[in-house]
Formats: sequence, structure tokens, C-alpha cells
Amino acid sequence: MLYSEQLYTGKPIIVPEALAQSLIDMLPISECTFNETLPKNKNYPYVQPLQQFLQHKRLPINLIPFEIQVIHDHYLNGFIRYQKGLIKNNNEFQCQRCGNHDQHLFARMPCVRCKKECMYCRKCLVMGRVNACTMLISWCGEETTHIQNNHHCDSLLTLSTGQQTASNKVVEAIQEKKQLLVWAVCGSGKTEVLFSGIEYALNQGLTICIATPRTDVVLELAPRLKKAFPTVEVVSLYGNSKDKERNGQLMISTTHQLLRYYRTFEVMILDEVDAFPYRVEPMLQYALNQSRKIDSSLIYLTATPDKQLLQSEDLDIITIPARYHRHPLPVPNFKWCGNWQKALEKELLPYVFVSWLSERIDKNKQVLLFVPHIRTLEQVVILISELDRSVTGVHAEDRNRKEKVERFRNQEIMILVTTTILERGITVPNIDVAVLGAEDNIFTESALVQIAGRVGRSPKFPTGVVTFFHYGITNEMVKARRQIERMNREASEKGLIDLK
Ligand SMILES: [Zn+2]
Ligand SMILES: [Zn+2]
Repeated sequence: MLYSEQLYTGKPIIVPEALAQSLIDMLPISECTFNETLPKNKNYPYVQPLQQFLQHKRLPINLIPFEIQVIHDHYLNGFIRYQKGLIKNNNEFQCQRCGNHDQHLFARMPCVRCKKECMYCRKCLVMGRVNACTMLISWCGEETTHIQNNHHCDSLLTLSTGQQTASNKVVEAIQEKKQLLVWAVCGSGKTEVLFSGIEYALNQGLTICIATPRTDVVLELAPRLKKAFPTVEVVSLYGNSKDKERNGQLMISTTHQLLRYYRTFEVMILDEVDAFPYRVEPMLQYALNQSRKIDSSLIYLTATPDKQLLQSEDLDIITIPARYHRHPLPVPNFKWCGNWQKALEKELLPYVFVSWLSERIDKNKQVLLFVPHIRTLEQVVILISELDRSVTGVHAEDRNRKEKVERFRNQEIMILVTTTILERGITVPNIDVAVLGAEDNIFTESALVQIAGRVGRSPKFPTGVVTFFHYGITNEMVKARRQIERMNREASEKGLIDLK
């Protein structure tokens, strides 16, 4: 679609070609100058179904199932905001939906809508194409408010002292619209820490989003929250989710799906802020910021915050240094195992590692073993199978990933060899954990802390062994061990653990 620039009550506006009186001087929207919003006509009888459909979202105009005349009328009355899909500045483009301004990530295509060569953003293509002729539309009129109901959390458990302190902080951050980092060690029960805050926000009629980089987490959290808040409509958003057109007061979303929202959420909770791909993907950080109301609270949750986050301004930090069961975190042992890669080439496992593993096999103890690469994984699985046949490997592209993890949980598999994909989110009671090749670059401080965090999580089996087999100790290994020791010390000083 093309647009004509006009004046309306003295203000520069654009008129879509379907509504324009003459077709002279029509331009792609990226080249037009106009006001994004017009003054609101308070008496305007806006169309409620359009409000229901559009409020909270920002979508390309072609995805809006209402007539252009209706949409434009809402714009003229100050109920709809028109924005350029791509902004052009000195011949440089920026995508307004995803924030991309890397010129390599724009491409040209012959465009049927504007009937010429048209630029589009490759970065957010998976969410539908944004062209230089795309208009983004969002609602800026009255919003339906959530009924200030008496919602009640059905899962308010007895929290540990550490959890309770953090839970109070979360409520305070929501009340005062602040930014808060909850730095909770692996296995401390960080989700429960949110419940009081969510309950408070729901009863205030606020719109809440729990965002996470990982679909797995959305799928895991949704049923827990539905159970905790049975009177609330919980909407879950991820790639193939059926909930995409629904609005709810409590949304659980992948960070990708936030690209569809605009100034919506009054409480934003970001779980696993340091997980892939959020920490390396500026687009997702942009999406998160655009989807929040300007006046909103932001709560980060993680066991392993990175430096950048820890140094950000206006951020309160609360730690939960101990696990719910009051046992200290297992501290990793370092064991030199020589040049393990060379050993593998000769189809041998390093001797110290074999002896560590045989001990576990004899005691019938389950082992989760991390290796740096898929190739290593395959070699190691073959070599271990000569010692114990109930071994298998799992990696990111493995189609049977879920099934294998399930079999490991059921103790049908005794030794599970994996790459870093299982560094988070796997909870199996009574296991020991090892890393073979802990000096590899892929094992960062946070990866190693997460890996060590797989051990001793269950109150029934609160201890276990973590061993890093290496061919040279790295800084990351040292930092990971220090971080764990520091948390144990803090927990002990605060009286949050019983043993030391
Ligand atoms: Zn884009
Ligand atoms: Zn075009």
C-alpha cells in the first residue's frame, strides 16, 4: 500500500491509497512525514471488537481483519497509532518492530504492494515480513481494564527464609515499579518466590508477563501457574501456540513472541535472563522493552546473572543463596585427566575418569556427564558402553531428546552423556555429575554453575558429587567454584543452611 501526505486539522497525516481522493504523489510509508498519533476524541464511538483485537499488540496492517476505512477513522480520532515498519535515516534503515539496524540484515525484493523494489527486514522475518511499505498499527485508545477481582493463589506454600525475603522484595518492586534481580541458586525454588507478587498484581488489575528465552520453560510454567491461579486466564505464547490471538491478564511467553506486543505489560518478569538466545540477541532485548508499559516493573530471575546485568543502573538485587532443603550447594572438584582428546583418538577414556565412573557403576549411582561437542559425545558414548550398557547420549538436534531424558528419570538409563543443552532445567534426584573437558570455551562460569546445580536438588537426596575433569584449569572453572563457595558462605552467615 502507498500513502498520500495530507493535513488534517492542521496536522500532517497520511491517508492510505484506498481512501485517497487522487493518486498523485503517493509514497511508501517509509518516505512519509506524519504524526503517529492524533489528539483523542473522547466522544468517539470506537469499535469494540477492534479494540479487543488490537489492544496491547503492534501488528503489520495486513494482519488486521478490519476494513481500512474503520482503521483510518480510529487513527483520525486518536484511537490508533500509525508507525513505520522501517525507519529510514540518511539511507540507513532501522526496523521498528525488532530494532535491527544492521544494514546486512536488510534485503530488497520486488514488492506487489508498492509495485517497486522494496526493502525488508530479514532479522524478524519469522514473524512475518516487515517492508519499507509496511505500516505497523497499535491501539492507543481506551483499554479494557481487568476486573479487580479477588484472585487467590492456591499454591502459597511455606517459603524458606531466603525465599520469603525475596518474595517480599518482588511485591515491593511491583508496588513501586522498580527493577529487581532475584539471584536464586539452582534448586532454591525461584518460581514460588513470584506467587505473592503475581497475586498482588492480579488483584490490582495489572497485566503481567513472564517471559523466558526457552519454549521448554513456557510449557513447564503454564500448568503450574494455572494450578496456582485457577480463577485467572493464563495465556501461553510460543512458536506454535494456539493462544496467540488471546489476551489475558497473565501471559507466559517466549521472548520472541514479545515482538507482537507494544506497551502492554505493567509487570514484566524475565526468567533465565542469561539463557540462550536472549543474552546474545539484541532483538529480544528490544522486544522486551517495547512490550513493557513505560511505567512498569521489571523482575529478572536467574541463578547465573552476567556481569552486564549486575552492573546495570537502578537495579536492586536480592539473593537466595541457599536451597529450600537447607543443605549447601555441592562444590565442584577439579581432576586433571591429561590430554583426553588424544586418548579418545586412541579409543581410550582417561584413566582417572574411568575409575571415577566405575565407582558409580558399581554403586548403581546415576551419572549425568557433560562433554563439549557432539563429536566427543558420540565417541564417549561408544567407549562407555563397553563399561556399562545403559548409557546413551543426547544433544540439541536429537529428536528423541525428551524421551531419553524421561528414561533417565525413570532410571532405565544409568549414564546420560550430553552437551550443554541440559545445563538447565533437568532435575533428577540422586545423581552425580561430571564434565569431561571442562577447560573447553563452551563451559563458561555460568554454564559450569548451572551444571553443578543439577546435583543434590531433591530434599531426599540433598548431596552428591560434581567433578570437572580437565586438561588445564581455566579462569571460568575457578570463577564458577568461587561463586558456589560464596553463596554457601552467605547462606551459612544468614543461617539459611544447617550443615557446612
Ligand atoms: Zn525487523
Ligand atoms: Zn513494498
